[in-house]
Amino acid sequence: MPFKDIKGQESALGIIRINLEKGRLAGGYLFTGPESVGKKMSAKVLSQALNCSQDINDACGVCPSCVKIEKGQHPDVHIISSDDPKLKIEEIRQLKKEINLRAYEGKFKVFIIDNAHTLTPEASNCLLKVLEEPPDSSLIILVTDRGPMLFKTIISRCKVVKFKAQKRQDLELILREEHNLDKGFAHFLAYFSEGKLGNALRLKDSDILKVRNNIIDRLGAPALFDLAGLKIEDRKSFYLSLNILNTWFRDLYLMKFGMPYPEAINSDRSSELSKALAYFSVSDLERILNAIFNTAAYLERNINTRLLLHNLKAQIWVS
Ligand SMILES: [Zn+2]
Repeated sequence: MPFKDIKGQESALGIIRINLEKGRLAGGYLFTGPESVGKKMSAKVLSQALNCSQDINDACGVCPSCVKIEKGQHPDVHIISSDDPKLKIEEIRQLKKEINLRAYEGKFKVFIIDNAHTLTPEASNCLLKVLEEPPDSSLIILVTDRGPMLFKTIISRCKVVKFKAQKRQDLELILREEHNLDKGFAHFLAYFSEGKLGNALRLKDSDILKVRNNIIDRLGAPALFDLAGLKIEDRKSFYLSLNILNTWFRDLYLMKFGMPYPEAINSDRSSELSKALAYFSVSDLERILNAIFNTAAYLERNINTRLLLHNLKAQIWVS
């Protein structure tokens, strides 16, 4: 995949591409920023660009080298990530051994350390030694959405590249133009995903819009507060339902303070929004948003979902 196919990260990729074109790559990079915005994908594309047989300072995406990297089968490109909560020193010792060997078939040896904030102190110290004197034609890319958790010494040895969530309007446009979503769904997904393309793409083929509509249909006048549309069969669906419910009341709350309709996450349901807006007071909305927040927090603690739903209703209807 060429760099231009990674959307909304022009500033981060600009730095990388200039370094690449001038042959001035640092030995270590730290790709940091929110989750699901393309950090790991960019690390993969950079490894493709370094090893691409077409020598174009970019990834052609189709040569054998690019294809192998895409499939995770290139012998010189390693993705280090751990299912354990911690990345242990053994992994970094292995990296240290491998990085000093010659590339098998590529031009560059690349080590992508995913979730780099999980490196143990011992692993960090071991990595620091490698970052102090990285061998020629090798590159270490640390990827994390929690940059400040890394050792300062590690950060100072890396070139830091910051990735950001996209503007919601830009993401909406990408979803419409490149993924053929209709305006209402593209708007909802872009805002619901908070501008994170990866999250939006994961949700685009799900039934989230159906679930959302089902919830809003029941929330609308005259009942205004029938929670029967919430899916509570399992914790994951309940959590999603709560998230959707939260967007609805958050929209109403912000509209009370002047947020225009087009900025609402659920702006495609403007007629229901306007009915509900007339019905709820600011203090109602504050109480409801608190109740939703508390329910989500209890959900994390393995409490029975029916009981939580029952309590949510009780917290909402206190008057
Ligand atoms: Zn290629």
